[in-house]
Amino acid sequence: MKEKWTAKEKLICASGIFIVCLCLIIEGISLRAAGADISVGSMGTVSDDSSKKIAFLTFDDGPSCLTEGYLDILKEEGVHATFFIIGQQVDDDTDAIIRREIEEGHELGVHTYCHEANKIYSTSDACFEDIMKIRTLLETKYEYKPKFVRFPWGSANSYISSFRSDIIARIEESGMDYVDWNVSAEDSVGTPTVYSIMNNIRKDYSKYDEPVILMHDSGCNKMTLEALKDIIKELKDKGYSFGTLSERSKSCHFLEKRS
Ligand SMILES: [Zn+2]
Repeated sequence: MKEKWTAKEKLICASGIFIVCLCLIIEGISLRAAGADISVGSMGTVSDDSSKKIAFLTFDDGPSCLTEGYLDILKEEGVHATFFIIGQQVDDDTDAIIRREIEEGHELGVHTYCHEANKIYSTSDACFEDIMKIRTLLETKYEYKPKFVRFPWGSANSYISSFRSDIIARIEESGMDYVDWNVSAEDSVGTPTVYSIMNNIRKDYSKYDEPVILMHDSGCNKMTLEALKDIIKELKDKGYSFGTLSERSKSCHFLEKRS
């Protein structure tokens, strides 16, 4: 057995140890880097966006005596929604509600100032004037710039058939977009119940990764308020998160081509 290593052998041995250590350090760095990627991915911020399901709860016709009930449930569930406002319902009594909607991270959109079909849909000018009246109110009173208009009865309604292209072009020129829905609670027709509302939503939402759900927030929508918690819970159970319409990947329009 050899008792003493030569200087050359010591050098070779030391070099070997150095190379092994270097390899281990490099491997450690690589693993940490891989680990970081995995953890970012698991937060859903980098990958898998294509399979993300986001539900967009939208409420037309508020603010009303029920709105605070909606806001309480949304807060409790940690969910944001989009409210399409009727301008003439914004007054001293509902001022705090509008402020709360904004403060709590909900989105506000223009529905209409007066919601009377014979007035707002008489001409393209009358329609645009009505839209701008509520938009200006939100901008001046709340310093809030709405991005979306939801036409009463939707963009395919027969009232605007003679000037649909024109009014849509004017909305777009003013820097806004219009938005329809692909799921309806049918909570503003007939005598809705919690059961009917749930069923109407349930029959359609799973067809979409980004369902835009139409509900109403007028004083007569008590059943919608009662159903809201269950609606949110079911959507959460089915893997949906929630967003406001500005977060949607694309516009939601009934008609792709204007007519
Ligand atoms: Zn409406």
